[in-house]
Amino acid sequence: METRLSQRLTAVAAYVPQNARLLDIGSDHAYLPIYLVEQNRIHFAIAGEVVKGPYQSALSNVSSSALSDKIDVRLANGLAAFEAEDMIDTITICGMGGRLIAEILENGRAKLHSVQRLILQPNNREDDLRLWLAQNDFKIVDEEIMTENDKYYEIIIAEHGKKTLSVADLRFGPLLKQEKSNVFVSRWRNELVKLETAFTKIPEVNTSDRSAISQKIQAIKEVLNEN
Ligand code: SAM
Repeated sequence: METRLSQRLTAVAAYVPQNARLLDIGSDHAYLPIYLVEQNRIHFAIAGEVVKGPYQSALSNVSSSALSDKIDVRLANGLAAFEAEDMIDTITICGMGGRLIAEILENGRAKLHSVQRLILQPNNREDDLRLWLAQNDFKIVDEEIMTENDKYYEIIIAEHGKKTLSVADLRFGPLLKQEKSNVFVSRWRNELVKLETAFTKIPEVNTSDRSAISQKIQAIKEVLNEN
């Protein structure tokens, strides 16, 4: 039986190059590598997991899909899951907070020189992750925003290269804010409504909170061209 992926992970899978040698960090059930191998998109992957429960479930899914010769399930923290001889060229890290993804990359920084492409799907704090990428000479080459089950997800694809990012680039995404897709506009309109509601509840004497929120509101209006 073929693995059915969430729309979120299907969107991530589209950015994995044909024949990539993939490390999926925080693989949980190993759905992403199993799907990619079943689709003949890749022929080798490591499913890395740091927690025993998800590691066991990845192991049993890979074995029941009869893919143990193509997918190595390893109990390891972040980039410790691979060695030079694995010739990993692509890393996916999905479904975690942006700060945790940045921390995982920071801890494995020394091993990133041989990796060509990072495909990252933070659940929050995308700005912190983009900052880490810019500060560590990774350039964002593609970005996507999508929605599933009433949640918004951003996918960030980065490769080695230099690119300075403005504060607005960090927050909204340098490519997403140019593209301004319908999903992007709807995400930030929602955020605007939340912030405007929050603003009305802050007492007038609390000038610093009011000014912080009004700056955020202004930045969103600017990016949406609604001021
Ligand atoms: N990547 C899958 C997805 O997007 O659906 C699973 C996401 S799940 C919420 C996050 C997984 O990352 C958990 O199984 C957790 O144990 C694992 N994880 C967290 N930190 C990790 C690390 N430093 N190294 C490897 N796995 C990690």
